[in-house]
Amino acid sequence: VLVTCQDVGQCIKVCLPCAPHRADNRFGEQRALAPFCPAPPYLSPPNTHLFAWLLKHAFIGESYEAGPVVARMSRCWSLLVLLAVAVSGTREDKITYQGAQLLRINITSEEEQDIVRALEDSDDVEAWNGLAANSTSVDVLVLPENKDKVKESLVSSNLTYDVLIQDMEAAIQEENPMPSDEEIAELEGRKGHRMTWQSYHRMQDVHGYLDWLAQSYPKLCSVQTIGNSVEGRPLKVLKISSDKAGSPAIWVDGGIHAREWISPATVTYIINELTENRHTHGDAVQNVDWYILPIVNPDGYEYTHRTDRLWRKNRSNGNSGGRCAGVDLNRNFAYKWGGAGSSHQPCKEIYAGSSGFSEPETSAVSNFVLSKKDQIKAYVTFHSYGQYILYPWGYDRVVPPDYKDLDRVARKAAQAMYKAGGSTYTVGSAATTLYAASGGSDDWAKGSAKIKYTYTIELRDRGYHGFVLPSNYIVPTASEGLAAIKVFAQEVQALK
Ligand SMILES: [Zn+2]
Repeated sequence: VLVTCQDVGQCIKVCLPCAPHRADNRFGEQRALAPFCPAPPYLSPPNTHLFAWLLKHAFIGESYEAGPVVARMSRCWSLLVLLAVAVSGTREDKITYQGAQLLRINITSEEEQDIVRALEDSDDVEAWNGLAANSTSVDVLVLPENKDKVKESLVSSNLTYDVLIQDMEAAIQEENPMPSDEEIAELEGRKGHRMTWQSYHRMQDVHGYLDWLAQSYPKLCSVQTIGNSVEGRPLKVLKISSDKAGSPAIWVDGGIHAREWISPATVTYIINELTENRHTHGDAVQNVDWYILPIVNPDGYEYTHRTDRLWRKNRSNGNSGGRCAGVDLNRNFAYKWGGAGSSHQPCKEIYAGSSGFSEPETSAVSNFVLSKKDQIKAYVTFHSYGQYILYPWGYDRVVPPDYKDLDRVARKAAQAMYKAGGSTYTVGSAATTLYAASGGSDDWAKGSAKIKYTYTIELRDRGYHGFVLPSNYIVPTASEGLAAIKVFAQEVQALK
């Protein structure tokens, strides 16, 4: 068995067997490729994530036959035991949302809007979408201990509401049925990676898939780590390029908000189509260079899998902050930073951070995009939910001088999305169509990086499941995302 080993500190060696890798080419022939040798996560420097991972997966001993992953030590048993105790002592319990409900509060007048705004400012509810001047409803999460109080106050104010999700924990449990270990092992052996679009995957699977693509298609794909998150996870960008001189480029990202799982799933689906199914999508996608970051906020993303499914921000001050940890990365970009629709209070969901680009995730994105800004002609960032294609500005209810171009292309994309999957997407400028939000990546891409076509796409649905969109919606939703991306590819060609 081919094994890849890396030393972790002085005492521990982590070894993983490489998966043999054979794959069908597009003529249906089998070919042997370089074996898939996964890297243990976060090897350097050793940290609590590595040790938590070791505890979960590793067999400790000298023999690789013991299991799929072996942590082998030469002499320092006591160190690992101590670390094991330390990690198990700090491991966070998973937050349960048993009895929590998602309510849609209907708004019919300005007076009702004021009442809802006051409710949102209290700690009794957590707003899932912002309140716009023309909002006819707003979705709020209510924890069980506040449920009666909130409902009574709504009734006494003559506000009507619908219960969109009766029991949030039940919805979370049903959202993402995972394949069995045997099915995953079979998949990995057959394809060389663990990625599917039938369930939502952990960061390790997503990053393993990017590395596998770079290994399998070295002329087309390469992976670059453009920085690291607060907790040291890599920010991996996949470049897809036919290497044609003068090609325009498109930036695509996902997962800036941790709980919006459909976003990285859609972005990786798009990656799969632009690589393995490349030849079915015509010249437009092949004449564009793609820079794709599927998970902008890997700490938050892993935290939603491990601890709190509904976490939104990154994980700065994660050890001490409780609900007040984290920065809303989509309020942390340094263009009109700190204005309307963002907060300077760390406990708020839309906390903008201590300054523009205070967070390593946003500053890594900005440095990378600025280094390619002359080539990048479109900047597309995927969020959920609500089904919108939004263009700048988000900081105020105004539009850029070329908004007619942005609007025309967005409407074309919305039509393509409808044709692909049957969903209706609403088009407009962000602050006018939804609500003001300063410090967003889209405003920065337009205002600072001067990228012409800049869009935020809010994927499915319109609130029936909200952020907890069941995994059987991944393929239909992602097909719509791909349709939009193909329109943008055509349009950046036309700019030349
Ligand atoms: Zn979002």
